[in-house]
Amino acid sequence: MTTTYGQSNTLFKDLAALLTGQLFLPEDAAYESVRQLWNGKVKTRPAAIVRCLSVQDVIHTIRWIRAHGLSLSVRGAGHEIFGRSLRENGVVIDLSQMRAVTVDPVARTAQVQSGATIGDLIEAAQKYGLATATGTISSVGMTGLTLGGGYGPLIGAYGLAADNLLSAQVVTANGQLVTASAEEHPDLLWGLRGGGGNFGVVVSLEYRLHPLTTVLSGMLLYPLDQARTVLHRFNEFIATAPDELTIASGFLQTPDGATVLFLSPTYCGAIKAGEQIIAPLRTFGTLLIDQVQPVTYNDLIRGLDAFTPKGRHYYLQTQSLDGFQTKAIEALIEQGLPLPSPFSMINIHNFHGTASRVGVSETAFALRQDHLMVELIAAWEPQSPDDEQRHIQWAQHISQALAPYAFKGGYISLLDEQEQERVRLTFGSNYERLLDLKQTYDPDDVFRSTIGHVAP
Ligand SMILES: Cc1cc2nc3c(=O)[nH]c(=O)nc-3n(C[C@H](O)[C@H](O)[C@H](O)COP(=O)(O)OP(=O)(O)OC[C@H]3O[C@@H](n4cnc5c(N)ncnc54)[C@H](O)[C@@H]3O)c2cc1C
Repeated sequence: MTTTYGQSNTLFKDLAALLTGQLFLPEDAAYESVRQLWNGKVKTRPAAIVRCLSVQDVIHTIRWIRAHGLSLSVRGAGHEIFGRSLRENGVVIDLSQMRAVTVDPVARTAQVQSGATIGDLIEAAQKYGLATATGTISSVGMTGLTLGGGYGPLIGAYGLAADNLLSAQVVTANGQLVTASAEEHPDLLWGLRGGGGNFGVVVSLEYRLHPLTTVLSGMLLYPLDQARTVLHRFNEFIATAPDELTIASGFLQTPDGATVLFLSPTYCGAIKAGEQIIAPLRTFGTLLIDQVQPVTYNDLIRGLDAFTPKGRHYYLQTQSLDGFQTKAIEALIEQGLPLPSPFSMINIHNFHGTASRVGVSETAFALRQDHLMVELIAAWEPQSPDDEQRHIQWAQHISQALAPYAFKGGYISLLDEQEQERVRLTFGSNYERLLDLKQTYDPDDVFRSTIGHVAP
């Protein structure tokens, strides 16, 4: 056992004695760097951070926390934007060191420890020419991604990350290890597929894999003054796009300071066919840059990491649109631009295909119709408080401007605690069933500092 807890703090000595992992307290030198989430804006200070190395560590920690009447939060790869994985004065169950991935190439499945990142899974699976639906940035945790749903470039072909979850192991609020699968606790598996972190600490997950190594993907950049035309044509195009093609879109600033519109197609079928299918995108406007080419799925995801470095300050709002209607395009361009800074961007996921064909009640993730999930990403270096206010106001302003054209709910992973009503609306007709599950697995609401919280 190695612990680094401060000599003065006797409360946590008992816990440290139970662990193979490490315990970090605020007086420890490493505490600050261990505490740090991806979003440097989050300043929350937990009473202790427990870096678990085994399922037994998780079980001991939950039982100990409950016996001492303390509060907790759960952390994987640490990308929760609003800081819910670091509960103020609580104990953090940190799974970031439990990252093993084991692939079964015959069954086409992967067993993933719950601290594994998207990048960990992609790298392990690509050795066998396999992949699954993931998000777009390699450092994001697979567990957090899946519990929220998990939009990404393969959504049209393979659905959400949550749709590829076959089973999971969970330590529940009373410290019991249970398996959630089609055979055992199927109700719990249903809730883990997009129902948030409400029901326990997930310690491992099993995913379905698909044959895939190379995709056709990359950025197409168009001048801002052609944005209306391009977005209208894009809107028509995606209505009939094949499942294999998923196109992200949005606005970013180039290094020379110009704001541009981007379309970022990813085609995951045969490359030659993909070239023909995406050809019309090249005629939507005058291309400033065309980077679309065959690329491994791993390189695609790693290539996007540079956009979102850890430690910068971020604030984010989202709206989910029923396509790009003219008024929504006008609101986006008139109210959302200029972007508030070079690091800020608007990123839009295209939900369609396989993901849209899953029934509303088949998984906890309820928004099962084609839509565009608009992320309004404000990002700044932490120089001045004025900067913070300006960025937050930009994201809130454009979010409100889009709201009349958006679904009432949203994406639970990207809603903050003040948006509890939107969480309820997002789950829609699945909300009551989630409440029942909460009553079964966490009646005391131990897991309340979580994405998609449902109150018992
Ligand atoms: C840079 C960036 C890119 C992103 N890209 C995408 C994207 O492409 N598609 C998409 O859909 N989303 C995306 N997201 C949102 C992301 O999926 C969520 O923020 C997700 O919750 C992050 O998971 P994490 O493990 O990295 O974060 P953490 O902060 O470690 O965890 C987030 C929350 O997930 C829950 N949780 C995590 N692990 C466990 C566990 N083992 N057991 C129980 N609960 C757990 C907890 O409630 C925790 O508060 C992105 C976020 C960022 C910051």
